[in-house]
Amino acid sequence: MKPKQPSKALRLIIFWAIVAITAFMLWTVYSPQQSLTDVSFSDVINRANSGQISKIEIQGDELTVTPGGESQATQRSYKESGSSIYEQGLSTTAPVEVAIVKESDTSTLLWNLASIIIPVLLFGGIFYLMFRQAQGQNNQAMGFGRSKARLYGNEKEKVIFKDIAGNNEAKEDLVEVVDFLKHPKKFRDLGAKIPKGVLLVGPPGTGKTMLARAVAGEANVPFFSISGSEFVEMFVGVGASRVRDLFAKAKKNAPCIIFIDEIDAVGRRRGSGMGGGHDEREQTLNQILVEMDGFEQDTNVIVLAATNRSDVLDPALLRPGRFDRRVQINLPERIDRLAILKVHFANKPAEESVDLDSLAAKTAGSSGADLANIANEAAIVAARHNRKKINNNDVVAAFEKVAIGPERKTKVMNEADKELTAYHEAGHALVGHVLPDSDPVHKVTIIPRGGTGGVTWFLPPEDRNYTSIIEFKDMLARSLGGRVAEKIKYGADRVTTGAGSDLRKATDIARDMIIEQGMGSGLRDLVFHEDTGGMMFDRMVHERPYSDSTAKEIDAEVQSLVREAAKRAEAIIRANIPSLEKLAKALLKKETIESDEVKELLADAKLPKEAAQY
Ligand code: ADP
Repeated sequence: MKPKQPSKALRLIIFWAIVAITAFMLWTVYSPQQSLTDVSFSDVINRANSGQISKIEIQGDELTVTPGGESQATQRSYKESGSSIYEQGLSTTAPVEVAIVKESDTSTLLWNLASIIIPVLLFGGIFYLMFRQAQGQNNQAMGFGRSKARLYGNEKEKVIFKDIAGNNEAKEDLVEVVDFLKHPKKFRDLGAKIPKGVLLVGPPGTGKTMLARAVAGEANVPFFSISGSEFVEMFVGVGASRVRDLFAKAKKNAPCIIFIDEIDAVGRRRGSGMGGGHDEREQTLNQILVEMDGFEQDTNVIVLAATNRSDVLDPALLRPGRFDRRVQINLPERIDRLAILKVHFANKPAEESVDLDSLAAKTAGSSGADLANIANEAAIVAARHNRKKINNNDVVAAFEKVAIGPERKTKVMNEADKELTAYHEAGHALVGHVLPDSDPVHKVTIIPRGGTGGVTWFLPPEDRNYTSIIEFKDMLARSLGGRVAEKIKYGADRVTTGAGSDLRKATDIARDMIIEQGMGSGLRDLVFHEDTGGMMFDRMVHERPYSDSTAKEIDAEVQSLVREAAKRAEAIIRANIPSLEKLAKALLKKETIESDEVKELLADAKLPKEAAQY
């Protein structure tokens, strides 16, 4: 609970009261007294005794003296304290009126009051603040064990299946869940058990959260959303108590949906039990299992959980009665991409020229979230150009920005670097263009983008589900094309760091081919990868599932793949030097060249026999 705050009005009153009292005190201390002339006490006594003073007012030790006669102004003097003015020399027969004024007038009374009230207020204020802080911390500590689940249930945030483009199979699977929530009786009457957990499996950004919310929206039930990583905090036991709290809240609000995003953060396979964070995760996972098992038959709470790594989940989570249903969500196909783009462009003013279909064709491998991002970027680009409507150039610019990073036109490259980049990129493009199983060149540019000096961009003409060994090998050769072109143009020892990321990429592809895909030559059809799904400590103590000699063989295979690719790239470039020169020169002149022009410039390029053999 949040500490109760005093109302704003009250705080204002206290503030002004303190200001007023302080101001008054300062005034009473420093206020200009009536300007009185000070005179000496002996002078006052002498003059009084000789009848030159008509009145003396005594207030404490202060004397206010009114001299006799009309014209003279009042004066001030001080007597010694402790004895009366008569004892100090005034004759009792002197013709002077002596008046004693009571010392404590209103100002001193207020002064006294203020000197009591202000310290009290001050201390009170300090104590109050300290108390509030302590209470806040206390509340924080108490609230630690509470789940941070957010509840969505109001109309404004409601999502329904219609808002989600594509994902048709997933929607069909989930319609059933909506039915369970809406008409549980129908199923129970037939003796059917209502499922407790549904696992949504798919890459990030494919709309898992949206689907879960749409289930809640369609069934018109509350939706509790929490991320797996929110269970795990610094202190052991917090995760488990958050789980308890979350399920308790959900049961109170049944029928409802609990959505646990990134369940793999807590649901990874349990392992050695080493390490504190690890223990915490296990306790959290155990608590989730306990809660799900503890649902009574008529608790109408369905837990939806999302992950993109169902292979690493603990088998206990997937047992019947827990997350035994699984809905697979894939990256959208071309038609779905078009539908998603349409959804995200629907609320944006766009010109007729905007070609969403060709954008959908170019965006193979993009998730719904990526496409939403492109639509948003397109609107930003149009706004930055002060246009009222988005045109197709904005869309293309947005796509390229999202896919390979923003252009960095301001980065100044010297002529030598520019030339080197042109030959490097021309090398990639030439090798990719010539190889029959490589994707066609989409665009070549020597304008720095993102973190690179230039980019050669290959795009598959259509969505692809599988990649063959030949395609991988062509991919390897074209990614080495840049370094090889540098070598041929400038000499073996003049190659640069420009190829750093190409080489990393090539090595990754080669390792993936050998370890994951069984595509080695000696190690064909064998896979050496094994991910236990365990967390850090398990991985550290995890033994390789192959021997040292196999490890050597894997390294040798990776090396031979990369060397072979370099040889092929070199054969292609050496056989087509005029084409390389032509493309590089054109790049230096125009900086960016699109696919059709690349094809024209490289029309004479041929695949040499040596490069065709592999
Ligand atoms: P996930 O949970 O799978 O990571 P989200 O559900 O959070 O993905 O999706 C992120 C964003 O991507 C959504 O807010 C939405 O804008 C967009 N999106 C993803 N898939 C779709 C889809 N099929 N239709 C419309 N928008 C989508």
